[in-house]
Amino acid sequence: MIGRDLLGIEDLERSDIERILETAERMQEIGERQVKKVPTLRGRTIVNLFFEPSTRTRASFEIAGKRLSADVVNFSPGASSLSKAESILDTALTLDAMDPDVVIVRHKVAGVPKRLADSLRAPVVNAGDGAHEHPTQALLDMLTVKQEKGRIDGLTVTIIGDIAHSRVARSNIYGFSKMGAEVRVVGPPPMLPADVESLGVKAYISLREALEGADVVMALRIQLERVQGALFPSIREYAATFGLDRAKLRYAKDDAIVMHPGPVNRGVELSHDLADHRPSVILDQVRNGVALRMAVLYLIAGLAPGEESAP
Ligand code: ASP
Repeated sequence: MIGRDLLGIEDLERSDIERILETAERMQEIGERQVKKVPTLRGRTIVNLFFEPSTRTRASFEIAGKRLSADVVNFSPGASSLSKAESILDTALTLDAMDPDVVIVRHKVAGVPKRLADSLRAPVVNAGDGAHEHPTQALLDMLTVKQEKGRIDGLTVTIIGDIAHSRVARSNIYGFSKMGAEVRVVGPPPMLPADVESLGVKAYISLREALEGADVVMALRIQLERVQGALFPSIREYAATFGLDRAKLRYAKDDAIVMHPGPVNRGVELSHDLADHRPSVILDQVRNGVALRMAVLYLIAGLAPGEESAP
């Protein structure tokens, strides 16, 4: 049981995270079958309510729901009454009245999933809200690290880039810290929130220092849609100083892995070569995202009272 809603990693205990990751590992086997479908959520309805563009997260939730035999409805704001100025809450309440079992919400404003969770009868899963949290991304990242390294506890995780505007960074900071990793963040000073060390991480402005001894290196996308003023002189200068390539990666441990939540700005956050080849594990992250979201949907919508077993 991980509670009714999944709004952020900040709200989870370490034992909740462990339970989700263990359930996801059991779900992975279903994705390897020729017939990738089990009846676990047959008769349940999942609504994908994405007010902000998404490729992998939305498709991942949809595939996850379908592999568990749920009916998945994709709601697209352009084709809806939202274009007739219906409020977000009215839209969500209207969909809620159709008795979905889970509503998955993405919105550019931080706090919208929480606001909807307070009003809807259906449980709400946050699929990314502004620069606040993106819990399933952090969970799939933790799953990927656990599988690559065999553990999370005791590892050093370095997150590079626009920490201030990244919900992925925030959720991963909470998650990896709760799981016992040392988390470091590095980027140009305007991209590092002033109070970031209050989250229990160490902040660096030197990429070399931040990478020394790192087991996991996570590059973040520059959030051009969330950046109001200029945070750095130019993309080219950012790439030269903080863009990861094989030469800079040598500062990390020899067996360090490289992660990115996507979409990658090739040649900016990661060199072309690193974006496509080991030690980067970007497509493993995507693959793990489906199993992880199956686990979340199962834990939220699949357990009727008295039921305890996974498929
Ligand atoms: N896809 C991730 C997100 O929605 C990462 C990114 O867009 O930078 O937050």
